[in-house]
Amino acid sequence: MQIQIPEQVREIIQKLNQNGYEAYAVGGCVRDTLLGREPEDWDITTSALPLQVKALFRRTVDTGIQHGTVTIMVGRTGYEVTTYRIDGTYEDGRHPKEVAFTSDLLEDLRRRDFTINAMAYSEETGIVDAFDGMQDLKRRTIRCVGNAMERFTEDALRILRAIRFSAQLDFTIEQETQEAIAVIAPNIARVSKERIQMELSKLLVSAHPEQIRQVYETGISPFISEGFAAVPWRKTDIPADLPAVKYVRWAAFLRLVRPEQAVRILKDLKLDNDTIARVRTLVGWSGRELAAEAEAVRRAMSQMEPEVWDALVELNGYDAAIRALTAQIRAAGDCLLLKDLAVKGKDLIEAGVKPGRALGEILERMLDHVLAYPGDNQKEVLLEKFCGQ
Ligand code: ATP
Ligand code: MG
Repeated sequence: MQIQIPEQVREIIQKLNQNGYEAYAVGGCVRDTLLGREPEDWDITTSALPLQVKALFRRTVDTGIQHGTVTIMVGRTGYEVTTYRIDGTYEDGRHPKEVAFTSDLLEDLRRRDFTINAMAYSEETGIVDAFDGMQDLKRRTIRCVGNAMERFTEDALRILRAIRFSAQLDFTIEQETQEAIAVIAPNIARVSKERIQMELSKLLVSAHPEQIRQVYETGISPFISEGFAAVPWRKTDIPADLPAVKYVRWAAFLRLVRPEQAVRILKDLKLDNDTIARVRTLVGWSGRELAAEAEAVRRAMSQMEPEVWDALVELNGYDAAIRALTAQIRAAGDCLLLKDLAVKGKDLIEAGVKPGRALGEILERMLDHVLAYPGDNQKEVLLEKFCGQ
């Protein structure tokens, strides 16, 4: 069977082959191509050792050379080329203590998590599918390579990967794999919060964010955090048409918890501050009724960035009247933020106001006024009203 691989990947494989090494596209890119999905990146697996790979290509980056990975740069695109390896014994349910290189492709495929992720491809050989990944792709099944209990014991992150892939691909987790997840769930406590967060975020921005329920149904959630476990997930629906943006999906998921609680959950998961701030705003505004009046809409819009407002309109399902007002307010260029006010701090200083708190308060009052009377956002009008000139 032939599949389409990018020219540059073909060339990298060819060059390795010409120098006597085996090389294949492997993992997610093979899976996604067979599913007709656009792969995020192309990984290559090879019998060549890292230094042998480096010797063949002009521009390389030592991404994880001790684990066998060298990135080959072609223009601005990087291709990760990793030496066939066997992962050593795992100490903490997460990090392999050592990795050993091997010259056997099958050993490299055996260490991979799921059958659908354990296929390799080259034009010369076609698809190498030692664990029936093709069949599982057809049956839309997530199944561990080998013994599920052992594989999750080696690395508990795989539990969340299984659930995340099932959400991204709309696949079902096979029975034995499913049972092992429930048993090994407590080991999630040993996985780093960042890794947990990355999987949960990918799950939430996927086509099936509602599959986050699996994290609860399988009993994993208490091992993520107490706050996370307390989210009323049964009552939370994540509208399918919400934009696939991390902060929007997290806000939808957390909208029934108090904003401070949402912040705690996300801080604990080491989300970035920008995302946390936006989620806090959205969760705080979630479920609020809003009158379809220009002033009310302006006041709400003035509390957040424009894209956060757009997300709130979707999240709260605001009606056509509020959407129309949003468009009008934007078209008119109404002042919504201090930075859009016709009066700046220096204008007030020139008008004799002393720099300091009082100055800031005047600006705030001016903003409050123009949110009701947008036509008054003119320097002379505001100075006269608020500074008596
Ligand atoms: P995506 O990039 O879309 O998230 P992917 O399958 O490419 O999916 P990566 O995390 O990029 O996932 O990993 C590449 C490949 O490495 C996987 O397809 C899998 O074969 C292997 N792999 C990744 N993480 C693990 C793991 N924790 N345990 C075993 N194998 C893994
Ligand atoms: Mg990948």
